[in-house]
Amino acid sequence: MMTDTIYHQAGAATPIAGNDLETAFKAVGTRFGYDEVRVDYASYKEFKSTWRRCGTKISFEVSDYLRNAPLEVLVDFAHALYERIERRSSVCHYSDRLKAYLESDVFVGRNQATYVKRSRNLTRSPRGRHLDLRETYEALVARGMVPPSEGASLNWTRSENRMRVGYCSVLMRVVAISSLLDNEKVPDFVPEYVLYHELLHLDDGLSEGRRHHTPEFRLRERQHPQWRESEDWLKRLAARRVDLA
Ligand SMILES: [Zn+2]
Repeated sequence: MMTDTIYHQAGAATPIAGNDLETAFKAVGTRFGYDEVRVDYASYKEFKSTWRRCGTKISFEVSDYLRNAPLEVLVDFAHALYERIERRSSVCHYSDRLKAYLESDVFVGRNQATYVKRSRNLTRSPRGRHLDLRETYEALVARGMVPPSEGASLNWTRSENRMRVGYCSVLMRVVAISSLLDNEKVPDFVPEYVLYHELLHLDDGLSEGRRHHTPEFRLRERQHPQWRESEDWLKRLAARRVDLA
């Protein structure tokens, strides 16, 4: 069995103590029957982890957004991963403690800027050529359409996406709106409606399953006064039936 020293600090004169990540994954791995566990952080853009398994040996690459997480959170995360591997499922069950950490201002504060930097398609600014998303957001909050999303990062995209006009990372509280909509020929209510949609996702918080557009979500979406006109605009924009030049 390899020691910590060999793969963490090849050629080091003195052995280094295992870090919290190793401590967590080795301890939980033993409970799941693994006798050789290797784990390292990896700089994925998304919050994801990968693993390779061979019999009772397993090696992980864990999202470096968990760097500096408390040991007990890493233990819970390790447990969620091992358990998911055992169930051969695509869904990870997070403990309340792990969820609380991922939804904390500490986690977002540590990682949001890195996530935005790794998202190459973001302008990293709410200010567009025509519209300031910050002002749009504040107007939505002032009208009581959405609760304040403290610390949300609002960005225009670099490319003018036609089909994917908005997306968000609920985990990182990052919203992206296609710069296609940052155009004086597009009524302001269209980007506002798309931003509203993404802010509803932030308000819903983290979900374990893949169902984000529930019937309840669709009902809330339709509370936007111009949802029908906006949807119509988005369809025409997607079909290139609007002259934006
Ligand atoms: Zn959505």
